Amino acid sequence: MEAAQKRTVYAFLRTAARSVWGVQPGVFDRTPEFADDPAPETEAQGSPAAPEPPAEAFPQGPARTAPADTIAGIDREIASCRACTLCRTRTRTVGGTGALRPLVLVVGEAPGREEDEQGLPFVGRAGKLLDDMLRAISLSRETNCFIANTIKCRPPDNRDPLPEEEAACFHFLERQIAALKPRAILASGRVALGRLVPASEGITRSHGQFFDYRGIPLMPVFHPSFLLRDPSQKAAAWGDLKKFRALLRELEPGYEQTWSAGR
Ligand code: SF4
Repeated sequence: MEAAQKRTVYAFLRTAARSVWGVQPGVFDRTPEFADDPAPETEAQGSPAAPEPPAEAFPQGPARTAPADTIAGIDREIASCRACTLCRTRTRTVGGTGALRPLVLVVGEAPGREEDEQGLPFVGRAGKLLDDMLRAISLSRETNCFIANTIKCRPPDNRDPLPEEEAACFHFLERQIAALKPRAILASGRVALGRLVPASEGITRSHGQFFDYRGIPLMPVFHPSFLLRDPSQKAAAWGDLKKFRALLRELEPGYEQTWSAGR
């Protein structure tokens, strides 16, 4: 069985465990690493073992490993995914967009109406505000950022994603992070923070602090949609971004000059 099939079966069993046996959200949240099964043996079971071939029959080469995920491959899987009920109401899946070797990964919540129509994350007013916030610290989706959501299909009427929907979808984001290898992560809003740092105390208390996601520094920030509803929080958001910029200057000195030159 291929790794992708195993992940789908795992997500299905996790959903079943919650709805049939009442297993609580939080259990089995983190999807294990799966690898493709080795190629089947050509000898029938129980038949005598073939004699060992001479050592020189196998030229020395790199050890065989499971093929690495690519963003394009993950995108294809997302586009055909039917692991939760959101597949019934979506118009388009929203995998993500941006630089494939990003300095920063921005993780939002779930697609809204315009994202669902266009298949792109953070479009419309919230997307414009996000772009303005990123530009203020020399980041952009065209040059040094990748932008993705925690959930890849739109919840109807923009309701909050259900725990089982988040659990079924999260392995896509985990794999995107592994493939992109960003130097730092901005978790925009409480859904992204809750999934990436389950032990955090929520966005209101945690915004502007640094956390660790598998060795990658992560900062939670307010979601642009929240800032549009409550502009009084923009000053706090700007303070957070300045702290994040200081981190980026340590991680990659001169990134602002590189960004300016590449615009
Ligand atoms: S939300 Fe995620 S898990 Fe659910 S159908 Fe869409 S891609 Fe699949």
